[in-house]
Amino acid sequence: MTETGQHWSRSRSVDPILAVERVRKEFRSPRGAVAALRDVTFTLAEGEFACIVGPSGCGKSTLLSIVAGLERPNGGRVLFAGRQVTGPGAERAMVFQEPALFPWLSVRGNVEFALKLRGMGRGERREQAERLLELVGLLRFQGLHPHELSGGMKQRAQLARALAVGSRLLLMDEPFGALDAQTREDLYEEVQRIWAAGTSVLLVTHDVREAVVLADRVLVMTPAPGSIKREVPVPLPRPRRPDGHEVVDVAAEVREALRSEPVTASVSGGRHGR
Ligand code: ADP
Ligand code: MG
Repeated sequence: MTETGQHWSRSRSVDPILAVERVRKEFRSPRGAVAALRDVTFTLAEGEFACIVGPSGCGKSTLLSIVAGLERPNGGRVLFAGRQVTGPGAERAMVFQEPALFPWLSVRGNVEFALKLRGMGRGERREQAERLLELVGLLRFQGLHPHELSGGMKQRAQLARALAVGSRLLLMDEPFGALDAQTREDLYEEVQRIWAAGTSVLLVTHDVREAVVLADRVLVMTPAPGSIKREVPVPLPRPRRPDGHEVVDVAAEVREALRSEPVTASVSGGRHGR
């Protein structure tokens, strides 16, 4: 595969963990139907990190909700590990921009709660929770409650909880949008550490630079009703600096793809040249 850096490199299997096939979605409102997604098709390989970028309102959040099983498509289908998605599942955890933690539980309590749902005994829960909190850099803050946490710490806690439920695919909808630049970059590191430890990731962002720093592949959507119009591979070693010239070059390519007319090329596992 493409990564050659010593950090955060992973091998990938050939079977897609996720296949989105000709997904279509309309919303009905009193003023008529709104077409949100037109014909979305792509696959994600097990262990892959893909980012989705697209203009505001093009259906990015709708697409993630459909993959999460929170919304049903009007046409097409989503396969997770070869099985059709018909509802939410712990193996596909969603991380929202606004963190959703239980306010009455500590950071560690939130993580242990998810482990308890999986039937894990008390001793094992404690051990696992500590391992996950260490992974996201929150071990020192395990006793704090959500109202005592900064925005970045809340997102870390949310990540740890998503892993605690046993997620194989992390779905993230602009998870760093509300954070300052430094916190965001710190979290890039945690997310890549989680990815390197074995979780596939599908992340929506409007920040093109962020997509290029994080992803193996950037999926570029058309304006509404959205479909995938280009896939831009990011064959750069990790870790990547947001202001590194290679990142800047690929980001320019992604911005160009955002601006250009739709291309009806093969969009699944695309490995086109530049
Ligand atoms: P994005 O995340 O790319 O900004 P969304 O997926 O949130 O876009 O929205 C895509 C389109 O679908 C928008 O026109 C939005 O108004 C519409 N939409 C999204 N969710 C709903 C809903 N629950 N009911 C009606 N319309 C919706
Ligand atoms: Mg959105």
